[in-house]
Amino acid sequence: MGGSLIVISGPSGVGKGTVVKRLLAEMPDLYISVSVTTRKPRPGEIPGKDYIFIDDKQFEEMVVNNQLLEWAYVHGHYYGTPKRQVFDKLAEGKTVILEIDMQGAMQVQRSVDDVVLIFLLPPSIKELANRLDKRGTEDEEIRKLRVLRSLQELDYIVDYDFMVLNEDLDVAVQSIKNIINMSKWVVTRGRARYLINKLKNGGVIDYEDFDFNKFKEGER
Ligand code: 5GP
Repeated sequence: MGGSLIVISGPSGVGKGTVVKRLLAEMPDLYISVSVTTRKPRPGEIPGKDYIFIDDKQFEEMVVNNQLLEWAYVHGHYYGTPKRQVFDKLAEGKTVILEIDMQGAMQVQRSVDDVVLIFLLPPSIKELANRLDKRGTEDEEIRKLRVLRSLQELDYIVDYDFMVLNEDLDVAVQSIKNIINMSKWVVTRGRARYLINKLKNGGVIDYEDFDFNKFKEGER
């Protein structure tokens, strides 16, 4: 049985990184996809682990060669998910987590049937700004831009499957674990048409039809 594909998005400062780290510690079967980006490493970031840091030309080549599952221009830099690692890990039965922005999430939803989109919500915009201040990795101007962008992004969360509130870290992590566990035995609406057609044509639905690997990229 192939693993499931989970997207986690949320505004800068909502705590995606912390949540994902905790998930990884508690769920050994997870694989966290490592994105490529053209932004420079922040202090403490490890190349190849946090991101694969590349230049604009290398990024362009990956786009042209169709090596990215999705990509987007976020806060002045390019970010993308290398396709190969995602499908390899899914085939191995791992649950793959993409921590990407909403433009990327929508692209993945269009190209892969079974993907679960989770949006991590902050308790308030004020709290979000506080968390960004505490992180202190960006200057004032960029922090303001990030908060503004978060406000814009909120309108798009209606396209997500689940909203998880990150007020209490334990509750947020447990909720996402529940969603991941559940996703092994249910399929998302992306596969509804296929299931209906199979039933109508006199077919029998079994757990193989719930296997992520039944539906590879772009196959509907
Ligand atoms: P940061 O620079 O703070 O690590 O990430 C900035 C934003 O880019 C975050 O919203 C993060 O989720 C998003 N991001 C990181 N990697 C990717 C990716 O591969 N694709 C897309 N679309 N967004 C990404």
